[in-house]
This record gives sequence, C-alpha cells and structure tokens, in this order.
Amino acid sequence: MKTILAIHTGGTISMSQNDKGEVVPNDENPIAEEQVILKGQINLITDEMFNLPSPHVTPEVMLKIKQRIMRTIDEEHVDGVVITHGTDTLEETAYFLDLTLPNTIPVVVTGAMRSSNEIGSDGLYNFRNAILVAATDESYGKGVLVVMNDEIHTARFVTKTHTTNVATFRTPTFGPIGIVTQSKAKYFQELIKTEVADIDHVVDGVYLIKAYAGMNGDLFNAINHSGTKGLVIEGLGAGNVPPQTLPAIQHLIDNNIPIVLVSRCYNGVAQDIYDYEGGGIQLKKMGLILCQGLNGQKARIKLLVGLSDNKAGADLASFVSNAIS
Ligand code: ASP
Repeated sequence: MKTILAIHTGGTISMSQNDKGEVVPNDENPIAEEQVILKGQINLITDEMFNLPSPHVTPEVMLKIKQRIMRTIDEEHVDGVVITHGTDTLEETAYFLDLTLPNTIPVVVTGAMRSSNEIGSDGLYNFRNAILVAATDESYGKGVLVVMNDEIHTARFVTKTHTTNVATFRTPTFGPIGIVTQSKAKYFQELIKTEVADIDHVVDGVYLIKAYAGMNGDLFNAINHSGTKGLVIEGLGAGNVPPQTLPAIQHLIDNNIPIVLVSRCYNGVAQDIYDYEGGGIQLKKMGLILCQGLNGQKARIKLLVGLSDNKAGADLASFVSNAIS
C-alpha cells in the first residue's frame, strides 16, 4: 500500500460557510481526516502545517513547505506528497516548489473553489483526486503537478482564470498534461525538464509591474531604491512598453537591477519583434531578460528563486528566460 503525506496549508478547501453565507477559516480542517474516501487503499499521513488563506502566503511560507517536503524525502518513507492550498496563490507556491524540489517523488497541489459545506463543494473530490495522482506510478518525474476539477496541470504553466468557477485552473497554449479518471491518472503529454535550485533562503524586494496604455515612469521610479533586487514587467502584447516609461526603466538597469519582461497577454510568449521606441527589440538591447511562456506572477517566482540561489548576470538571465527548454 502506498503512503502519501498530505500537507494542509489552508484556503477555501479548509474553510466553511457560516450562517450569514460568509466563507471563513475553521479551527479544525474539515477534510484532514477523510480516510474514508480512500477505501483502505492508501496510507495517508496528515500534517496540518498552516491554516492560511492564499493572500497570507509568502515566499517564506513556500520555503517552509519546501523544507518540510525535503525532510520527508530524506527521512520518511513516503511515496508521494499532496498539498492543499488556497487557490488565489496556489500557482505561485506550486511553481516555487517545482523550481526548488528534486524531481524524485510526485508532489501534487490542490484546492477548492467552494468551501466544505457549500452545495457542490469540490474540496474533498479534488483532495481524493490529488491523492490518486500522487499514488500513481506514472506521476513520477513530471515536476510538481496541480490537480483540480479532474485535470492534471503542470505547476510551471497552470494559472487561475476565473474568480469562482470550479473549472478555473487552465494551462494556456498547451492544456492539461493529463486527466483523472474514475480510479487513476492518465497522461497525454509531459514537459521538457528545467533546472532546479535548492535554495535555503528567499530574497525580498522582487516586484511585478503591469504595463498599460499611457503609462509613465512613476511606478518604476518608486521602486528605484537599494531594497529592490529584481523586477518583472508584464509588457503589452508580444513584449512592448509605452515610451514614457523608458528613462525610468533605464535608471533601474543602470542600478544593476535585473528586469524580466513577460507579456500581459493570457497566451503566447514575450519576443523581440517590434523595432519602435518601447518595442521588444529596444527592450532586449537595453538588457531586459525576455522570459518565454511564464505569466507575471510565475516569472516573479522564478526571478526570486534565481536571485535566492545567488545567480547573477548571464547565469540569472539563462535561468529565468529558459521556461520551455
Ligand atoms: N481566497 C481563497 C484562498 O485562496 C480562495 C480559495 O482557496 O479558493 O485562500
């Protein structure tokens, strides 16, 4: 029988609706002891590590979850790990773990869009599916996975796309890599491997700024100080910014702050296509790192992990830009 470690961290999956219809955290996790769903097929170990809603999760919390999983890999006999998490920042924690854990046992992150006592609650179902995926032999070596609503996504590319719908987690461009059927995980595609960074601390001061029509340099000037370690810009379209922002961006570069460029578009990659003021060609020449295929919040996690691994210069640029191969 396989042994799966379930690490609970909070979120709607651990919450309930009160008499007024408000969704609130519980003292006792309503799904933590649900051995009944596994019909004696899995040995489930439970660790109620945190009880945090997503907006309270920080890179320090992500690092603690990573360290907990490392302990289990090194010291306990566990065949897989399931993490329950709030859905708002689930993709960031999942990707942080993907970048920092060795790819040895399945690690699966799940959550819920409806709390434990709401009609159509999806928490217990997603939890059961996540355990099934973590206990499936084919799940080895696939990187950190996100299981929600019968689909298996990679932590690297999945994103939350709807505020309330249970079909919120999507992988733009590629789709899920597998599905969960009645009793097992079935895979249809897999990712090319990328580099893992075994970090033991996380740096502060890595920012994310979204470009918009008519933007000027104010937001960039506001973070031009010694505490800033890195910046991700969600650029327009294929990777362009309004020209009025350029002097402020140049000041950040002059202060040796690494800047990563992604697109604010839901699909596609940032590229050096346009040769006008503020176009991708100029941004690349200025020294911005074009990151392929990650959204802003994921690129920020990757930059933060790279900086926490003491990468700099060309080494950092190659780590961050290389999301696909
Ligand atoms: N706001 C909640 C959270 O992320 C949403 C959820 O868990 O689905 O903690």
